[in-house]
Amino acid sequence: SPSTRIAVVTGGNKGIGLEVCRQLAGNGVTIVLTARDEMRGEAAVDKLRELGLSNVIFHQLDITDASSIARLADFLKTRFGRLDILINNAAFGGVEYVRDPASGSVTSDEELRGMDRDRRLEWLWRNSRETYEAAKKGLQTNYYGTKHVIEALLPLVQASPDGRIVNVSSDFGLLRFFRNEELKQELNDVGNLSEERLDELLDMFLKDFEAGKVDERGWPAAFAAYKVAKAAMNAYSRILAAKQPAVRVNCVHPGYIKTDMTIHSGLLTPEEGGRRVVKVALLPEGVTGAFFEDGEEASF
Ligand code: NDP
Repeated sequence: SPSTRIAVVTGGNKGIGLEVCRQLAGNGVTIVLTARDEMRGEAAVDKLRELGLSNVIFHQLDITDASSIARLADFLKTRFGRLDILINNAAFGGVEYVRDPASGSVTSDEELRGMDRDRRLEWLWRNSRETYEAAKKGLQTNYYGTKHVIEALLPLVQASPDGRIVNVSSDFGLLRFFRNEELKQELNDVGNLSEERLDELLDMFLKDFEAGKVDERGWPAAFAAYKVAKAAMNAYSRILAAKQPAVRVNCVHPGYIKTDMTIHSGLLTPEEGGRRVVKVALLPEGVTGAFFEDGEEASF
């Protein structure tokens, strides 16, 4: 029916993204579940159909691949002519995990799953490495990938009578993690911050990262690239919200969730994380450019 809302979820094949698809579909929203891997995406759609959710379709999307993004935009334009809800959920943790039995690190997911939460947390801290490659991939996926999806789908969201963009952010992207006060100010002064300046700041971060100057220059410590990418996404969301008053653009921290990204060390279930994202997606009132935590509006 023409009144059915259409939503796209990125990284919908597992974790929080899959839960967001399930819950939104349960609310009568037509879901375009996207995943970079066709097999994993189709399997996720099958899972939801088995739950009786027939309003879910699959479309491939790798958010770091321009032609993949363009194909999704074409598909949506032809099939629906608009997009009511865009949930940018796909992301990469920004670190590599060492799985080397010689260093005492377990190698299989099964072994990891067998550990209790404390041991798993300890494993996570001991075996995560913030390599330059992982940092670069973190920015490319979490910031630029998400931004490129938004840019390509924005005309379709504008074609909706009540278009919404929900960026699944993180409390790790909050400005309190930046110890460089100037940088923090600049990222918070979104009235004067341009997208070009954001690009420059991210280039600066990568240069500092490569030179081993993350601490010295006051960038966030631990999971630095992930934090910087999410902070940049938050700033971009605020810039976009100001530029596009007819579209609602908000960020949400889902909570610390048991998913592959956290090696299942989180405190809450994907269902609980998904609920927080869905709440923002379905907000009745016109908040835009805001950050939500624990289901409530909070500061950046
Ligand atoms: P998962 O690792 O379980 O899922 C990540 C999803 O993103 C997967 O579907 C993955 O696909 C997809 N993805 C990764 N790279 C790409 C890409 N280039 N193109 C398309 N899809 C991609 O993570 P979570 O469910 O935990 O995370 C979901 C969101 O929640 C993320 O934005 C994360 O930053 C955020 N978040 C999570 C927290 C947590 O505690 N878990 C806390 C705060 C925020 P594939 O299966 O192919 O790898």
